[in-house]
Amino acid sequence: GAERTKNVLILMSDTGGGHRASAEAIRDAFQIEFGDEYRVFVKDVWKEYTGWPLNDMEGQYKFMVKHVQLWNVAFHSTSPRWIHSVYLAAIAAYYAREVEAGLMEYKPDIIISVHPLMQHIPLWVLKWQGLQKKVIFVTVITDLSTCHPTWFHPWVNRLYCPAEAVAKKASQEGGLEESQIRVYGLPIRPSFARAVLVKDQLREELEMDPDLPAVLLMGGGEGMGPVKKTAKALGEVLFDKETEKPIGQIVIICGRNKNLVSTLESLEWKVPVKVRGFETIMAKWMGACDCIITKAGPGTIAEALIRGLPIILNDYIPGQEKGNVPYVVDNGAGVFTRSSKETAKIVAEWFSTKSEDLKRMSENALKLAQPEAVFDIVRDIHELALQREPSNFPYMLTSSFTSLI
Ligand code: UDP
Repeated sequence: GAERTKNVLILMSDTGGGHRASAEAIRDAFQIEFGDEYRVFVKDVWKEYTGWPLNDMEGQYKFMVKHVQLWNVAFHSTSPRWIHSVYLAAIAAYYAREVEAGLMEYKPDIIISVHPLMQHIPLWVLKWQGLQKKVIFVTVITDLSTCHPTWFHPWVNRLYCPAEAVAKKASQEGGLEESQIRVYGLPIRPSFARAVLVKDQLREELEMDPDLPAVLLMGGGEGMGPVKKTAKALGEVLFDKETEKPIGQIVIICGRNKNLVSTLESLEWKVPVKVRGFETIMAKWMGACDCIITKAGPGTIAEALIRGLPIILNDYIPGQEKGNVPYVVDNGAGVFTRSSKETAKIVAEWFSTKSEDLKRMSENALKLAQPEAVFDIVRDIHELALQREPSNFPYMLTSSFTSLI
């Protein structure tokens, strides 16, 4: 019809790579499904509009994950609801004016949060502005299992959970009604779901060896975990000393970890190796490989499942990533080991004597995959939008609220 274009504001934060990937997945799915009906903005509102500590979540996250024990303590000590509620309410009051200006600049009809800390403050702002009935607010959880309770807020119009276990937690501990909750899966970029990829062509395009089996080694958006040690161990075992020939090739994607790139590039290799920094064509790299080694990041896991890649998990961030390990292992789509030697040995076996294992795990991975999740999510949001009265958005900032503070 002749309806005006609706504005969608996606709130994310560049901590790791997962939140941005999910945000972009949702944006692209809106475009594919509904074209010009929606205009989608992806914004790190904290970074742009608030002061410390919120504008430095990226830096704090990097610091924390480097000192995992600290992260562990932070994750668990903020779990009791009253602690984080009080903390976030205080921050909300302090930064309300900035966040409000940040939100309103985009005149959103729909706000989508893909971050555990972006429920409380925006929802308070909407309430204070009397906008709860006008603006649709939904949360898309991007942790597969053990997610932090700050993801849950009972005022949302919808909560999209990647798995049943999360939905259960949301209704039991988060105070959400079942009617608010939907379980479709983790939103993954449509380039994974919709593109038809042919391995031979990808290998040619990416200048890889056409015949050798390939292992993809990575550590999330920041290139974390035992990547260097694992790469070295792989370099040894994938070279057959008797025939003096490689039995496999390695692709290492370091994300934003520039030091890792230069360290790995300075090493000597006996097998074909590709070392890359932050890549924007992950679907292609995964499509060109036969298995993957990664920390237990939900984004990377969900993408690997869609591509049918058996997964070796070699690390996880305590707290939110821990539950991803049994999700993969118990479903027969991969294994967990922290030992780089063990990891390398498993890959070497998959590429030689135990190719049946590799095949079986690949099939299990495909069974777990939910490539359509992101489309289910945007279609459901579209339904919500249709149920709302068409209104001309009264975006005059009422000063009543800010003067309260
Ligand atoms: N990623 C990417 N390019 C890179 C490295 C990672 O696009 O060079 C993407 C990856 O495909 C995944 C996300 O970043 O979608 C990483 O998310 P994950 O949840 O696995 O871990 P995080 O980095 O958020 O801790």
